[in-house]
Amino acid sequence: MRIVIVGGVAAGMSAASRAVRHNPAADVVVFERGGYISYGACGLPYVLGGDVDSFDDLIARTPDQMRARGIGVRLRHEVTGVDASGGTVTVVDRDSGRSAVEPFDKLLLATGVSAVRPDWARTDLGGVHVLRDIPDGQAIEASLQTARRAVIIGGGYIGLEMAETLICRGLSVVIVEQAPDVAGRMLDREYQRRVRAELESNGVDVRCGTTVESLTGKDGHVTGVQTTEGLIRGDLVIVAVGVRPNTGLACAAGARIGKTGAVAVNVRQETSVPGVYSAGDNTESTHRVTRRKVHIPLGLTANRMGRIAGVNMAGGDATFPGVVGSGIFKTFALGVARTGLTQTEADALGLDAVSVDVSSTDHAGYYATAKPIHVRLTAERSTGRLLGTQLVCQNHESVKRVDVVAALLHGRGRVQDLFETDLSYAPPFSGVWDVLLVAADRLS
Ligand code: FAD
Repeated sequence: MRIVIVGGVAAGMSAASRAVRHNPAADVVVFERGGYISYGACGLPYVLGGDVDSFDDLIARTPDQMRARGIGVRLRHEVTGVDASGGTVTVVDRDSGRSAVEPFDKLLLATGVSAVRPDWARTDLGGVHVLRDIPDGQAIEASLQTARRAVIIGGGYIGLEMAETLICRGLSVVIVEQAPDVAGRMLDREYQRRVRAELESNGVDVRCGTTVESLTGKDGHVTGVQTTEGLIRGDLVIVAVGVRPNTGLACAAGARIGKTGAVAVNVRQETSVPGVYSAGDNTESTHRVTRRKVHIPLGLTANRMGRIAGVNMAGGDATFPGVVGSGIFKTFALGVARTGLTQTEADALGLDAVSVDVSSTDHAGYYATAKPIHVRLTAERSTGRLLGTQLVCQNHESVKRVDVVAALLHGRGRVQDLFETDLSYAPPFSGVWDVLLVAADRLS
């Protein structure tokens, strides 16, 4: 049994580990076109910001550790072609340029996503970066040695995490966002405004409703961003305008691509081509609240999908349970979290949804560390079925209570179920009636 895995980060290495554990006799080999495997890309902003000492700290397992577990790892080897019926892939060694044909019994595509680079971002100008992997992080670190003015294009969670990082590094920071506000894909408008207020109160210049037209440069280095609202000067530009699933190999294998633009799979992570699996950011999943296909590329999903693909490729039987759209991030002191659907998303799907907003304190009001916490809870009006929640709080860890609602969404829970849940309580953690319970009570 030969299992070939393309891509050696979250999904790929989870799959490899599970496959050898499930079937120690399997010959498992991972081809990774980059120079690193098994690292936490999620930590990149924190290395750049100084909360994490070095990029090496993000590496969970080295190639040698993986080899010791019986997994073949080929770094800087890019898979360039797939012959699914013949059971082979074409692999190019990026150092020697040599190409080889490698056989497989089972194939996993764990190729992730690529950062979207609009035409204006396809430039050789120095100081222009995306942030997807360790080399991107290292390139930003090199630019930070001289940069003074940063322009972040895109107000999604990576752009917002980077805003904090760059302010901490002493730069002036402008965020340019085409949409009316930041964090637009995650939150309802009222909650977007709270995030923007946090950015502005920490010195970030937020320019929403502003479209980038081009980049300007001098002597090979970026000098500014030309927008519909005028020129913004900057010597460091971070382009964070979204990602696109890497589906080239799946297409080459003849696998179906879903309406989301990501690879379509069944619950066993198998594509429409027998023996070819897909997992991680390049792959779509099913939303348990809407029962629709979605593409929500996040770390836990990638690890879980990889694990399931690994078991199945090795002869086992595991199924992916779906997602509920949970997301969390921090910018400056503010923690921001959501799960399920926002009111805006529910409306767009034609659901009869109703929301309640509660502002309270995250700890008992009299406790010294208490900070305001704002919660929106959304439910289906006729049935009381929970649809989702959004939270923001200046004690950023306090928004982790989003997971209570995520767990209930997995079981298609109702508002009443949330209200009746026996949540823990002590003054340093919450009020006796936690803000989620207050919201559920008001929505009942
Ligand atoms: P990737 O990590 O993209 O790995 C895919 C690998 O495949 C790449 O190394 C690539 O080189 C390789 N590859 C592609 N094509 C080929 C080929 N043809 N041949 C060989 N190799 C190939 N998620 C969260 O849940 N929470 C967070 O806080 C969070 N923060 C993030 C912050 C940043 C800055 C970034 C970039 C991501 C963040 N994420 C976060 C997302 C999370 O990192 C991803 O969901 C996760 O890394 C996806 O893993 P993956 O294995 O599917 O894909």
